[in-house]
Amino acid sequence: MTEPTLYVVATPIGNLRDMVPRAVEVLQTVDVIAAEDTRHSARLLEHFQVTTRLLAYHDHSDEQQVEYLAGLLQSGQSLALISDAGTPLVSDPGYRLVNRVRQLGIRVVPIPGACALIAALSASGLPSDRFAFEGFLPAKSGQRCNRLQPLAAEERTLIFYEAPHRIAASLADMAAVFGAGREAVLARELTKTFETIAGGSLVELQQFVEADANQRKGEMVVIVRGKVRAAERTLDAEAERVMSILLRQLSVKQASELGAEITGLKKKALYQWALEQRQ
Ligand code: SAM
Repeated sequence: MTEPTLYVVATPIGNLRDMVPRAVEVLQTVDVIAAEDTRHSARLLEHFQVTTRLLAYHDHSDEQQVEYLAGLLQSGQSLALISDAGTPLVSDPGYRLVNRVRQLGIRVVPIPGACALIAALSASGLPSDRFAFEGFLPAKSGQRCNRLQPLAAEERTLIFYEAPHRIAASLADMAAVFGAGREAVLARELTKTFETIAGGSLVELQQFVEADANQRKGEMVVIVRGKVRAAERTLDAEAERVMSILLRQLSVKQASELGAEITGLKKKALYQWALEQRQ
């Protein structure tokens, strides 16, 4: 008999072809699948010809539900945990169950796959060596700004999930707290038909979503460059003078491109200096 196992299975974030073969195999062979929304998951499972018994699980499920699922594992059954999309536990249910199951000494195995924050970061062009995932921000502006405030000095790249009806207001709050010129990327509808990955300063992105209602639709991730360290922004006096003039009329990106042509300095160094001026 194989050891009872809880499999934490990632599912696609929009494109069904992103389902990994091992995930299908596991879902077909476990005894029970615990899903965030059984009706939603039924469609996915039907597509992959998975007929395994489905049970509902949320992190606000009562203690009894967690104990019931843990009991199935203790009785020798294997379970798979899935969420509506992407990797379970990442802004999705699963933490309480995985925590309990590990406490009981039962094996937990991840089946990796899609995750919106990683997909967005990998295509953002922003530093990916150190990053902080902040999940969803509060819905109200005051609370949102309170959450953003301590992050203003964070040097790691910041990643947020955001709802479409709040994107413009959130970008405006980020611009107010981090500085309008802070570089950011909006990754929308990843892996789907209207996938859009737009970069610019926070204020440019805010204007971009305000000008086009389509950019305020669907699912989205916001990635914000961390605060640029002082050591990275040393320019000589002449370069600073040129850049200051350019920045009066141009965006950070345009000013650094033109500045690099004029001064012969590296575009990246000019870009970072320019960002710091706008913060
Ligand atoms: N567990 C999921 C994961 O691994 O990414 C995240 C679940 S969370 C409830 C849903 C949020 O993830 C959305 O509001 C959006 O911020 C982000 N998201 C999910 N799918 C996305 C996609 N295809 N493109 C962009 N963002 C997405």
